[in-house]
Amino acid sequence: MFGNVLVGVRTLQWAALCLGLLAITAQTASAADCRGHPGALGTSRTLVVDPRQHPRIGTMQYAETLPLGDHEVVLTFDDGPLPRNSNQVLDILASQCVKATFFIIGRMAQSAPEGVRKLRDAGHSIGTHTQNHPTGMKRMSIERARQEIDDGIASVKTALGDDAALAPFFRIPGLSRADGVEDYLASQGIQIWSADFPADDWHHISSSRVYDIAIKRLEAKGRGILLLHDIQARTVAALPRILRELNARGYRIVHVVPATPEQPATPTEPQQWQLHPPSENVAISHWPKIPNFVFANAEMLPGPALSDLDWRDGRSMSLVEASNHASRPARRVPLPREAPWPRQSSLAPGSAANILPVPAQSIFEIQERPGAATQELATPSHHAEQPVPTEPKTDGLAKLISVDASDSPDTIAVPIGAR
Ligand SMILES: [Zn+2]
Repeated sequence: MFGNVLVGVRTLQWAALCLGLLAITAQTASAADCRGHPGALGTSRTLVVDPRQHPRIGTMQYAETLPLGDHEVVLTFDDGPLPRNSNQVLDILASQCVKATFFIIGRMAQSAPEGVRKLRDAGHSIGTHTQNHPTGMKRMSIERARQEIDDGIASVKTALGDDAALAPFFRIPGLSRADGVEDYLASQGIQIWSADFPADDWHHISSSRVYDIAIKRLEAKGRGILLLHDIQARTVAALPRILRELNARGYRIVHVVPATPEQPATPTEPQQWQLHPPSENVAISHWPKIPNFVFANAEMLPGPALSDLDWRDGRSMSLVEASNHASRPARRVPLPREAPWPRQSSLAPGSAANILPVPAQSIFEIQERPGAATQELATPSHHAEQPVPTEPKTDGLAKLISVDASDSPDTIAVPIGAR
């Protein structure tokens, strides 16, 4: 009996060793298979996800993100294709045998359909990013938002000529999330991709600054979804150095694809979808959700009525009464002697105001710093839409796009609660 158990344990150890070797082999093979590019970064593994099980990802806004291991990175590119820059991004990724996810704008796909097909032919994942990249989906009617989403999907499908090549992945322009938009996308089985960190490559900053921000934010989290823009020349300039540095620092690229009947989702545990899984020892994980208040549009806030403070039908209770109430013997346990405090006069019920003035909004306004990106403190997305920089190099169509904007480089994103 003992011998059988020992054999069983040894078999398990051998199986685990083989699996470990297989994992290492698979990882090194992907980089080694990058023909003509010895030492390339490569793509370490493919992660298959089920959008219906995890409809919203990215800790910049949501409680869940992709189930990545330490030093695993997912690259994402928005707003293309703009052939002049997007083709260079494709070449750079190919030179490192790296697979990424692209979020395509419908109008860009109409303008450069061959650019969308190049993404597919190179094996990248393709999601959508609305038809016109509208600013502020959170302020838009749900009918118009749905139209933007649906038209964008239709345009990219037309460019591909193959519905199956489009992943049910979607990124909201400017990360301008809204409940109605999220609900609609979930109902369609489409996964919303926020991100774990941007590199601010839509700002008028140098390519070396893009590189610095990308590496700094990645190092701060150790893993995650990086948000970039393939339409930006500064991103093209920064990308080779970013990939080389990822390789040098031991990061591994993960390619994400949607689950299909033929390719089921990669098995994962729920806690793997949280960048910082809540610990039983951390009190914050047990905090209740913040309630929704209904006074947002009220001119006056309701004041507390005296009845709110009393447990006996609005009748006020003096301190002595309270003391008498508390001193009723319970199970013969001796209570402390009545405190010799002065008698308190009861509040007159009519003296409490029924309404309180609403504080002026100007109290909460923050002085804007010239040249600095401001953070939308009042909104969960903390993202601001900004017009595309009117660079001389940017095409006319790209000028119309509002790029995905973010907060200032050093602020920490605060995820909203899981919905
Ligand atoms: Zn965008």
